[in-house]
Amino acid sequence: MRVLLVEDDKPLSAALSQSLRTANHAVDCVFCGKDALNAVLDDQTDLVILDLGLPDIDGLDVLKSIRQKSKAMPVIILTARDKITDKILGLDAGADDYLPKPFEMDELLARLRVIERRQGTAATAIVSVNNVSLNTQTLELFIDNEIVSLPRRELMLLKALMENAGRIQSKQKLESRLYEWGEEVVSNTIEVHIHHLRKKLPDKFIKTIRGVGYSIPQKGS
Ligand code: CA
Repeated sequence: MRVLLVEDDKPLSAALSQSLRTANHAVDCVFCGKDALNAVLDDQTDLVILDLGLPDIDGLDVLKSIRQKSKAMPVIILTARDKITDKILGLDAGADDYLPKPFEMDELLARLRVIERRQGTAATAIVSVNNVSLNTQTLELFIDNEIVSLPRRELMLLKALMENAGRIQSKQKLESRLYEWGEEVVSNTIEVHIHHLRKKLPDKFIKTIRGVGYSIPQKGS
């Protein structure tokens, strides 16, 4: 998922984003409420992790503004305010979940998986197309029932294609799934990854639709 991390504590933000990336999420970091609201508007975010004690706008007000714009956007609150009344306020303001600091990173990741499952993006962990199977949660790849290891970015790209088997994915769409907000993207990055992927995948598994994008065969075809 593409996570918007709203946390003004920079060391904590850095540690969290690193763990999230290791768990194969893309992370956009912002450090105040105003930037959080701007980022949510840009429509790339799948989930918001929101600290309540922010330097400009109170996190609860940020949450209320997010809810005015999007009722469905999943929001997990992280906060040092751990009184039960704070928790109730947060949940009533529209948070999907609430984690008091200090928390275990593993617990946060587990709660992200719950939201992911609820949204149906990871309803089935294993996606199989012909003789290629990918576990979209662990990113284990099997070709002809043998495990194959690939660099993470290639796996993420393959995941995007396999979850949309039979549908054309534009280069732009693939880039946005792979790259984080603000990161510089070299113009031929996707082509390079596709080139490497093809060497490891069965012949003609990834089809190029010139000028449009890429696709892989529909499941079972
Ligand atoms: Ca804070």
